[in-house]
Amino acid sequence: MIAGWQTLFVIACIKQVPDTTEVKLDPEKGTLIREGIPSVINPSDVNAVEECLKLRDAHGAKVAVMTMGPPQAEDALRDLLAMGVDQAILLTDRTMAGADTFATSYTLSTAIKRLEKDEGLADLLFFGKQALDGETGQVGPGVAARLGIPIITYTTRILTVDPQGRTVVAVRRTDDMTETMKVPMPAAVSVFENVNKPRRASIEGILRAQRAEVRIWNKDSINADPNKLGLPGSPTIVRKMFIPKPRGRGEIFDGRNDPPGAVGWLRGKVLSSRPFSGKTTAVSTTITEEIQPVVKRAPDSDRRPVWVYVEQNEGRAASVSWELLGAGATLAKKLDTQLEAVVIGYEVEGIATEAVDYGASRVYLIDDPLLKHYRTAPYAKALSEVATSHQPEVLLIGATRNGRDLSGMVATSIRTGLTADCTSLDIEPDTGLLLQIRPTWGGRQLAMIVTPKHKPQMSTVRPGVFPRPPKSHRKVEIVRVKMDFEETQIPTKIVDFEWIERSSMLQESDIVVSGGRGLGSEKNFQLVGDLAKVLGGAVGASRRAVESGWADKEIQVGQTGKTIRPKLYIAAGISGSIQHLVGIEGAETVIALNADPEAPIFNSCNYGVIGDAVKILPLLTEELARERPQGAGPFDGEV
Ligand SMILES: Cc1cc2nc3c(=O)[nH]c(=O)nc-3n(C[C@H](O)[C@H](O)[C@H](O)COP(=O)(O)OP(=O)(O)OC[C@H]3O[C@@H](n4cnc5c(N)ncnc54)[C@H](O)[C@@H]3O)c2cc1C
Repeated sequence: MIAGWQTLFVIACIKQVPDTTEVKLDPEKGTLIREGIPSVINPSDVNAVEECLKLRDAHGAKVAVMTMGPPQAEDALRDLLAMGVDQAILLTDRTMAGADTFATSYTLSTAIKRLEKDEGLADLLFFGKQALDGETGQVGPGVAARLGIPIITYTTRILTVDPQGRTVVAVRRTDDMTETMKVPMPAAVSVFENVNKPRRASIEGILRAQRAEVRIWNKDSINADPNKLGLPGSPTIVRKMFIPKPRGRGEIFDGRNDPPGAVGWLRGKVLSSRPFSGKTTAVSTTITEEIQPVVKRAPDSDRRPVWVYVEQNEGRAASVSWELLGAGATLAKKLDTQLEAVVIGYEVEGIATEAVDYGASRVYLIDDPLLKHYRTAPYAKALSEVATSHQPEVLLIGATRNGRDLSGMVATSIRTGLTADCTSLDIEPDTGLLLQIRPTWGGRQLAMIVTPKHKPQMSTVRPGVFPRPPKSHRKVEIVRVKMDFEETQIPTKIVDFEWIERSSMLQESDIVVSGGRGLGSEKNFQLVGDLAKVLGGAVGASRRAVESGWADKEIQVGQTGKTIRPKLYIAAGISGSIQHLVGIEGAETVIALNADPEAPIFNSCNYGVIGDAVKILPLLTEELARERPQGAGPFDGEV
């Protein structure tokens, strides 16, 4: 802690994760082969450490790294000592095993308090934006909530750290804007991989790291309550794991020696897909009237509602909220209870009315000038307080960046479990529990997770997973809730913000044309843009295309990118890895263009052309440009 002559003290919390690219499927048993998988330091955590080291270079900060993990995680800490950190702490104890994000944030925050006894209060805590294995992004907000400090999540640039003024100014990127935020220290920051370029360890660093002490702490070292650690301390429980079912092998045209033939065939498939033909295919809107309760209850029993948090910022509602009202209606029917919504913001009564139109039977509206722009602390206070007073059974939140930021903070504050990135939700007939299904192991496996003992059962769901329900105009109660907010109590100040251009809002487009590494160059990647333009759609990219520098990370489709639900998805030069496919599960028609007849994408598409995308794409674009298809148009997205 800085005071007079003292220096900054900063801590990076890091995680050693399995390299999920190495996980293979046993073709006979259909199970994952996990033995011998190498471990790596979670990539964005290395950026968190680099940010600490930059503070040492600039301000002489004292840098500690901390991890909770098995004894082998000491290797990761030594790698970071070699990069130059001053001290490393490994939290390892059998009682800590099996921790979910709730128990992990308890363990880390308890250990941070313990470390602060020796070193003085930490000025800044750094986290990677999310871990590769769990992909939740919940631990940073959870630790910040437990320590009662502000957090800036999804940071892309740290502009200033002012040790005298005791403030941090940083730029964060949400799904639809860039924001410059200022918070007082002590504070937490979670960073994207693009925030900096981590330094390499020097030879002296490596030698020093071999001799350096790694402090190894168990539950007694940090004076932790064993009931709050590991499995006993985790509100969420993995019920079972299973392998996702692929879309199935599509109808394939071999265009290797016949590019013009391939173009004609593709043209037919594109024009008969729903954006152009108007036909309704497999994906239907939710027909909740047909859904029967699955839980038997006495007529006078206590029926807690299903809640959806309706996300908005500056008066613009996030479309995922409407999708969640559709999913929530089904869950409420199964639970034989009401669907309700919460709207937080300023001058957002119109959004509350819209939530009614999308199916909410009651809306709690917290409307206050201090809530005009999303900020974690007042929004978390509002949602936590209203949820504590009304005790919903289930609380669904969109897995947008702000939704994750908020849900991590709220779940920790109201002491309940949170399952991130669910791709399917259901109600278990016997118990009435929410069955939350989400991808794990880099999307290679699905986990069914329950929160048996805590309420509300909280889940986040990515945009595009559920269809938007139809709207119907109804009149129901909007309950205005008053909260006491004072600007002086809100640590975070918005210095500036800017909306991101709509053209990058991939998730709202009915038509997406994506390119992968198979396109071979940045110039060829533009061919997907040309086709998208003619079709009136958006451009997407595989992770490899993003990593090659041909496309912005914001348009990456897949597990670590966006989940999308277009009516037509065209994948050119994309192999079809499971991590890519989890992002397009909800796509109605998938058309693949790949040179390799064995490419996995052909097992997960409706139509496929074997052939050279670089030759076929411009011909197809030219053909379609001549007869500008009817029905095309960007963002004509209402279902
Ligand atoms: C934890 C984790 C998360 C991940 N998240 C994502 C994610 O969100 N999104 C994502 O996309 N990936 C993700 N990945 C990476 C993923 O595993 C794959 O590596 C990636 O999707 C491959 O990208 P690609 O298909 O463009 O490249 P490649 O796998 O290299 O495939 C290129 C394809 O192009 C074909 N090709 C080559 N030349 C031509 C040509 N001229 N015409 C047509 N086809 C051609 C090849 O046959 C090949 O099938 C993740 C990985 C991990 C471990």
